[in-house]
Amino acid sequence: MSVRVRFAPSPTGGLHIGGIRTALYNYLFAKKNNGTFILRIEDTDQNRFVEGAEEYIVEALNWFGITPDEGPVQGGEFGPYRQSERKSVYAEYAEQLIESGHAYYAFDTSEEIEAMKARLSDARVVNPNYNAITRSQMKNSLTLSAEEVQERLSSGEPYVIRFKMPKHEDVRFKDAVRDWVVFNTSTLDDKVLMKSDGMPTYHLANIVDDHLMEISHVIRGEEWLPSAPLHVLLYESLGWDAPQFAHLPLILKPDGNGKLSKRAADKMGFPIFPLNWTDPKEGEQSVGFRESGYFPDAFLNFLAFLGWNPGNEQEIFSLDELVAEFSLERINKAGAKFDIEKARWFNEQYLKAKSNEELAALFTADLEHELSSGKAEAIVNALKERVTFVSEMAEAGSFFFERPGHYDEKTVRKKWNEQSANGVAKFGEAIAALDQVTPEEAKSLLVETLESLELGLGRVMPALRVSLTGQAGGPDLMEIIAILGPAEVAERIRIAVDTLDQ
Ligand code: GLU
Repeated sequence: MSVRVRFAPSPTGGLHIGGIRTALYNYLFAKKNNGTFILRIEDTDQNRFVEGAEEYIVEALNWFGITPDEGPVQGGEFGPYRQSERKSVYAEYAEQLIESGHAYYAFDTSEEIEAMKARLSDARVVNPNYNAITRSQMKNSLTLSAEEVQERLSSGEPYVIRFKMPKHEDVRFKDAVRDWVVFNTSTLDDKVLMKSDGMPTYHLANIVDDHLMEISHVIRGEEWLPSAPLHVLLYESLGWDAPQFAHLPLILKPDGNGKLSKRAADKMGFPIFPLNWTDPKEGEQSVGFRESGYFPDAFLNFLAFLGWNPGNEQEIFSLDELVAEFSLERINKAGAKFDIEKARWFNEQYLKAKSNEELAALFTADLEHELSSGKAEAIVNALKERVTFVSEMAEAGSFFFERPGHYDEKTVRKKWNEQSANGVAKFGEAIAALDQVTPEEAKSLLVETLESLELGLGRVMPALRVSLTGQAGGPDLMEIIAILGPAEVAERIRIAVDTLDQ
């Protein structure tokens, strides 16, 4: 059997981290098994449709490079891939279910349903729902005569089609993550399959499309687990084989206390969306991981570990390596705690591993200062161990472009004295004679200068650093000297000696 999996988001807003993880796991599983990764847009609920949400999903997937093999953009043999363009497909299956006795017409108005629920709540019924018990008191094709049903249908009275949930049956299925799962139908209601506007609900459309698109594995978030027994029964009722299910663990808040929500993420000050998202209705803006400075490969590596692990110590995985290692068996059952520090750590590892050339291009892209490529590469090399994001480099390396406005007070108080100042000044004189230096040459020159003064490196380095950068700490000092160049170093030393010796 060939592996065909789908990512089936509803375009109801910005796709958040859970959705992206679902997409990634589907992709990894497909590629691992030489299968097909499909994007299907589940937009049957017109009331929840949000402008721009589908484009956002496509752009987010592209950002990571997990492009679908089939989907609304790519097309494919099983299209269309937007449910709103498949409207005509579903009715026939709803009819089939009615004919086989697995579904029925229901004519109840929403007021009547509310009244029934209120009555049951008053009688302290735990699940006040339209279900195997209550349907016998409602207006539907199970309680009305065939003639009356026909009459209502032909007179154009609004109706829905509901699934006839068996009364008291165990539904079992094997989930690739959770193993055997059992639900008793007494806890389930008679879900609407076709709405009065002629549109299918999620449940019907999802099952029909998974069948018609020959989906072999349904890999989706745990929040869909309660719907799975209905889906299993729908497959059975339609006489179809169900796909293999895999329900992914929830993504939890950092303390493990409850599901990670947008509100929780906002409160803790970290992104939850892959890309910036502006809600078209509320105008509310959310920052994305991309715009926060995360590399797509680092973020993807982080995401892969939110609910899966390779079973060994390795943490850094390229997309190809993830494909090679991935399996549904290694997905955890327990919820995955979201840890933004870990996301930052991944970004740091990817940043350090990138070539100076690549980093320099990113660094200079929106830098105000003009730089030769050689100098830009030397600067990023000096800074790459010290930042989490490329966007922090301009600030972390501001002293490369500006002379110190002030000198770190504590360093000056503790490290600037007659001897160290003299060492710094002499080094300034010595280096002024040169045109350019490498870090190694700068080091030898400093050692020689200090030897002649019988001063140790350790006594002078902090004073030299503060006079060149104004700061107490920072990247390798010899690299800084090489980047600034002899003339600038000599000038900064002159200014520092003038300022600090007063
Ligand atoms: N449209 C559903 C969603 O928004 C799909 C759930 C599923 O994968 O079955 O997540």
